[in-house]
Amino acid sequence: MKTLKYIQKSSFLMLCLLFIGNSFAQNDRSILKDKFRFIYIANPNSTSSIILNNNQIYSGNETGTFWTNSNMGRSQALVRALLRDNGNGGDQTLQYFASKIVKIVDKPVLVYLYDDTNVTLTSASIQRWGLCADDPNSANPKAWPCANNQSLADDFSQNIARCLGNPDPGRTDDRWGGYMHLGAHHLNAHPVIWTKGTFIHELVHTQDISDNRMHMFWVNGSNFRYGLDGNHYGIEAVPNLGMTYKEGIANTITLLYDNTKSSDMFNWFKDNEALIVEINPNPEGTGPGNVHRCLDVTHPSPDAWLYNVMMDAGETSLRTVNVPSGSTNQYAVFKIRDVAPKFIVHNEFILALIFSEYAHHISLGRFISALHYSNNQLFRVCASGVAVLFENMCIEGIPEGETLASLSQSQSGITEKKYLLPLAFADYFTSYRSQTKSDFETIFENALPQGWIDLYWDTARTTVRNAVPITTPERGDLTDIAIALGITTSSIDD
Ligand SMILES: [Zn+2]
Repeated sequence: MKTLKYIQKSSFLMLCLLFIGNSFAQNDRSILKDKFRFIYIANPNSTSSIILNNNQIYSGNETGTFWTNSNMGRSQALVRALLRDNGNGGDQTLQYFASKIVKIVDKPVLVYLYDDTNVTLTSASIQRWGLCADDPNSANPKAWPCANNQSLADDFSQNIARCLGNPDPGRTDDRWGGYMHLGAHHLNAHPVIWTKGTFIHELVHTQDISDNRMHMFWVNGSNFRYGLDGNHYGIEAVPNLGMTYKEGIANTITLLYDNTKSSDMFNWFKDNEALIVEINPNPEGTGPGNVHRCLDVTHPSPDAWLYNVMMDAGETSLRTVNVPSGSTNQYAVFKIRDVAPKFIVHNEFILALIFSEYAHHISLGRFISALHYSNNQLFRVCASGVAVLFENMCIEGIPEGETLASLSQSQSGITEKKYLLPLAFADYFTSYRSQTKSDFETIFENALPQGWIDLYWDTARTTVRNAVPITTPERGDLTDIAIALGITTSSIDD
């Protein structure tokens, strides 16, 4: 019953929704009841907080000050969407995705919900709660949504303490999977779908233990992982590919949940719109400066100056803009489909489009499984997350009894090439701009095993490109690529 034929170019998500019956939903909802700790902070400048009673909410009892504070409308809708049944504010699709994700680490997750609408946050309260200020230099900063995995947070604080000679702060990752912070001010500025899509994005961060490769981007006391301003935008190519991976996998589930956002991002690609890259005016290399003795590196990644790297490679910038307008942060504007593949994959939504289409056309279960393996392989290991995840997605598609070596024999006889779909989608979303194998390898930081590169390039590239030319991209192209690779079925969970 889990196998679906491609009758037409229908969205996997629609099919998926039909299959989420009440018994599945009940199970998802009770997983969420047990896995989340919602902590309501009515005034972030005070020290008091309230833990919401999940059992009460689950059975329909919404009493307490959290529920009567009208500033918390978005957070109320979120908690209801996760814990209540269908018809009482419950959102079965959100419950489905959230229950799948939270099982990756399978430990309780802390969700801090702040009413920061009418308070001026002090630096002491920002530090106490560990929340993320949208603009730390502002006179009135607000809580920007952010999240982290507890093992990564513990590693970071222990390593810093050790380096500074401070007492060991200990670990809490035996009890907690991770945490996220959501402030009412920014949630209220958007429709409720933004709260839910953001929640799903942040939830992936709580499960992600991949090394963030931050040590390659600390320069003169600053971290250039996202560039000089410390912000990343959906249409930005950011310097640190470790962060592109992290944001890319988080956006993947948001795109699966929010079909409008998914269409918007596909159209951005289709219409060859702006890719922005922050210009880093700091001199390349470390140089003298306000060096942090525990964090700075002597040989930072050249990608910390990504704009310079792109210009040196002959890319064409159309113009420069300040983002946000009125600020002094200078960005160069490129076109997403016109730059070289190795630069395109510095964008988090290109990865999210590839991964979410993989989940649509193979299965969400296979994607989560690949992610699970990658997660474990990338814990405390500085490697290319993109290469590791692509390899795992390819492996998920290998038929039983076969191996990469057996598939590489010219008469392997396999007609349904699910194992090459991730690479075909990577080729498509880099606009088939790879002209040689070595161009293609750069998508994966030259770290994908050569056997996979050879197999796609030698046996499938021409078929894919001929079957689906990229003149005017449309969503149906992804299904046509699957069909060109002989893929006629997709499944829901396995
Ligand atoms: Zn994020």
